[in-house]
Amino acid sequence: MARDFGSSATKQYFTSRIKKAAKSLEAKGYEVITVDTGDEAAQKVLDLVPEGGSVGFGGSVTTRQLDLIETLEKKGHRVFDHWKAGLSKEEVTAVRRGQLTSDVFVLSVNALTLDGEIVNIDGTGNRVAASIYGPKRVVFVVGAQKIVDDLDGAFYRAKFVAAPINSTRLNLKTPCAYTGECNDCDSPGRICNVTVVFDRKPTGTPMTVILVGEELGY
Ligand code: SF4
Repeated sequence: MARDFGSSATKQYFTSRIKKAAKSLEAKGYEVITVDTGDEAAQKVLDLVPEGGSVGFGGSVTTRQLDLIETLEKKGHRVFDHWKAGLSKEEVTAVRRGQLTSDVFVLSVNALTLDGEIVNIDGTGNRVAASIYGPKRVVFVVGAQKIVDDLDGAFYRAKFVAAPINSTRLNLKTPCAYTGECNDCDSPGRICNVTVVFDRKPTGTPMTVILVGEELGY
């Protein structure tokens, strides 16, 4: 579930950061949509999916919180969701490959800087691969708590906030799952093998960033 920020002072703080990040992202070539709630974000994503278009979802708690998958399937869209229960290893691989050529690929970020840099860290790499090139459109959905001041803050957030929480969520035997801190591990379950920084929007693919005035994902 999305979580709003409660007090009006907190909301004002996040609103001003969203405005600054939005301006930076627009200057870097992204289409930017700002909304107040996760429900509004979900509707904006649906509006971006063409009639009959396929939709891929990166490994992202944010996008699952929007409850889009069931809605899209009911509308007859082909959905590439590698978190779907009951998939075999081979099927997961096939779904990940399908994401690479989907009509719309939806994911979140580990962090977004006020200067409009997007940072994502992946274990397998399918999420970051599809976010760069392949799908006809890429849509990032970003809860306001993921906006950080700069790239140092982004890397810190990815390794010391998002990765430990995700490691715990996935029951991985990584050090951060137990300690909440990154020690640059050699664990077989390590989820931080590929780091991608979008300095600007890559050429060729339309990309939309939906900034949400609520806490979404990790
Ligand atoms: S490198 Fe290892 S310890 Fe550090 S955040 Fe990634 S999985 Fe956790």
